[in-house]
Amino acid sequence: METRELTCIMCPLGCSLRVTKDGDKITVTGNNCQRGVVFANEELTCPKRIVTSSVKTEKGVKSCKTTVAVPKSMIFDVMKEIEKLRLKDAKFGEVVIKNVLNTGADIVITAND
Ligand code: SF4
Repeated sequence: METRELTCIMCPLGCSLRVTKDGDKITVTGNNCQRGVVFANEELTCPKRIVTSSVKTEKGVKSCKTTVAVPKSMIFDVMKEIEKLRLKDAKFGEVVIKNVLNTGADIVITAND
């Protein structure tokens, strides 16, 4: 049996979760809603994160992010795909990579200039 303390990052409340894994059974306490259970299960099986980075353009560097969280194990590879980009320009909200590495996440520009 394994017990972990996690902070749920699904909303600003940031509930402190106690997650117990006993074989295939995962028990979660401390959550104020069901999303905390979903988060805890995902953290123990396939943790995911939004990736934020920047893209090089001829007019300078523009910030970007994934539209949805990608598996933590793929973050470095996603960053490498973003680093390969050399764009003329990019506008706020523009998708510069669609479905990066088949993760289901697009890379979108977040700079507003
Ligand atoms: S468990 Fe629910 S209420 Fe608590 S931080 Fe997660 S999403 Fe928010």
